Amino acid sequence: EGGGNMAASDAGDSEGLGGLSLLGLAPGAPSCPHGPALLFVKTSQGKEEGRRFYACSACRDRKDCNFFQWEDEKVSETRLAAREEYNRNHQPSFTHRQNVERYKYFVLLPLPKRKFCQECQQLLLPAEWEKHSDHQCLCDISTAQLKSPSQLLFPLENKKTNAQYLFADRSCQFLLDLIIDLGFRQVLSVGTPRLHEMIQSKASQEEDFSIRSLLLDIDFRYSQFYTEDEFCHYNMFNHYFFGGEAARETCRKFLHQDNGERVIMVTDPPFGGLVRALASSFKALMAMWKETEEAHNNQEMPMFWIFPYFFEARILEFFPSFSMMDYQVDYDNHALYKHGKTGRRQSPVRIFTNLTPSMIVLPVEEGYRFCSICQRYVSSDNQHCEICNSCTSKDGRRWKHCVLCKKCVKPSWFHCNNCNCCALQNHTCEKSDAGCFVCGRPGHKRSTCPSLSRT
Ligand code: SAH
Ligand code: ZN
Ligand code: ZN
Ligand code: ZN
Ligand code: ZN
Repeated sequence: EGGGNMAASDAGDSEGLGGLSLLGLAPGAPSCPHGPALLFVKTSQGKEEGRRFYACSACRDRKDCNFFQWEDEKVSETRLAAREEYNRNHQPSFTHRQNVERYKYFVLLPLPKRKFCQECQQLLLPAEWEKHSDHQCLCDISTAQLKSPSQLLFPLENKKTNAQYLFADRSCQFLLDLIIDLGFRQVLSVGTPRLHEMIQSKASQEEDFSIRSLLLDIDFRYSQFYTEDEFCHYNMFNHYFFGGEAARETCRKFLHQDNGERVIMVTDPPFGGLVRALASSFKALMAMWKETEEAHNNQEMPMFWIFPYFFEARILEFFPSFSMMDYQVDYDNHALYKHGKTGRRQSPVRIFTNLTPSMIVLPVEEGYRFCSICQRYVSSDNQHCEICNSCTSKDGRRWKHCVLCKKCVKPSWFHCNNCNCCALQNHTCEKSDAGCFVCGRPGHKRSTCPSLSRT
């Protein structure tokens, strides 16, 4: 996206940023320890209000990164120098290279000497034990444990946007089987450490398993377990490779294997909003893939973007070629979002893809069927609506058609003559309001949308 046209059309799409709008990645933006900062502006009723400013792309909580600069602010040489030093000092204590060397040494240690500090989230070498003697440590770290770092590491959950929600085994296996059945060989895993781990461990165990994965993630703890060809420290909100040109080149090479013909990108970003920033990074990764050969014609790099269904319109705005699959992605550490058949609430998380929907075969035994009119697999309760001429349910329940709204709506909704749209029976009528950006319902703003809360 060019800097110029960002602002005009997009002021107003405050993505749950509490009256803030993301303008995007601007050329010449200042940097914080997480790479180039993003440009934001305060908005009120869809209009820009006040000065534009830069803030950290990765952290939404000021406690995690308090970078702030007005767009038109003059920054003195001294402050610039101090900032550069600050950014240097706020990089991880070991480099990726050092972590790879440490790992090589670690695996040579006998089991009783293999310790992992839970407090520092770090593999320890014997000389370091003493420094961590007050810390909770795990001992006898097995090779199997080293091959499943997502089980060994605590999922990050303190921060709003950096919370890690790990795939349930069933969903991870489903994704991998799908990738195999579709004939892909290279998986660019962007923020999907568990999928990466499943691929890596199969590749090391099964001789005829020919799929490779490269993990791009901001969680640097993973650099303790993977080489520079398997993991790049990457920020998906500003397309920033912390490892510089070498890491970028690793990614480029990975995308260009076998002419890039069997590459798919899979990503499961944090939901905190910032779809615009994600989309622009994913487009940059797609462009990187496209540099391969003219042979791709006008094709796009195949992609699975895993995200909640209520972001459908938002994703399609940036990727019109995408469609949303009915498959409900399950997570291990999401108590509320287990699969519907277990009697719990259903997961709102879906797969968005630019592949032909009919190719995405969903498991019948988990309650999906093929709709021959829509030419895609849908939830078995998702009824084909004759009037809309599609299977309209987004949440897996059977939706009903409202003739006044001229569309299908959730089963729990009723047409409200006051609001002139369908809503929950006990909603508060708010005629003037445009409705929530995420779910479209009146009465609340995006930041307090009930469908967004994950706890
Ligand atoms: N379901 C996935 C994990 C998704 S959680 C799995 O099981 O593999 C979101 C992931 O995105 C986490 O791994 C987190 O570390 C990563 N992430 C969060 N913010 C990021 C950023 N700014 N850039 C890159 N990765 C990020
Ligand atoms: Zn420690
Ligand atoms: Zn249908
Ligand atoms: Zn309908
Ligand atoms: Zn209605």
